[in-house]
Amino acid sequence: MNKALFLDRDGIINERMIGGYITKPSEFTLIPESLTLFAWAKEHGYLTVIVTNQQGIGKGLMTEQDLSNVHAYMCSLLAEHGFTPDAIEFCSDLASTNSSRRKPAPGMLLDAAQKLDIDFSSSWMIGDSISDAQAGKHAGTKTILVGDYSDIPEADFICAHVRECEKILG
Ligand SMILES: [Mg+2]
Repeated sequence: MNKALFLDRDGIINERMIGGYITKPSEFTLIPESLTLFAWAKEHGYLTVIVTNQQGIGKGLMTEQDLSNVHAYMCSLLAEHGFTPDAIEFCSDLASTNSSRRKPAPGMLLDAAQKLDIDFSSSWMIGDSISDAQAGKHAGTKTILVGDYSDIPEADFICAHVRECEKILG
């Protein structure tokens, strides 16, 4: 089986759009330190799987094509550094729905694991929302929560910035 680094997108790979959604490539700003996570994964034999809630689609504020354009741009930036995500899972369901894929539910992780034969117990989920840590815990990964948090039961590790994750991964 494979081990994987599951990565939230907004706040881990790119700067968050506070109070809105990233609907086009020009709004996408890479967090440079996220590259260290892809480098770590490559060096240590981990797949990289991006798992991202995108309810802006469910709200009708953007289309799947808009998201596809943003992800094509993201992948082009990563490719400049020699990195290619092994999978990108997104969920357009609204928070108000009882979605099995929208984080904190683990559906996106489960679907990726089925496709890529991933063992959760040797995998990590990294995100900047409590729901990311919860999704990881529900699936059975180790979890790192990035941000100004304390005492979140689902987070195995908490750090202030993406750049600190690599030290925790080891
Ligand atoms: Mg996030």
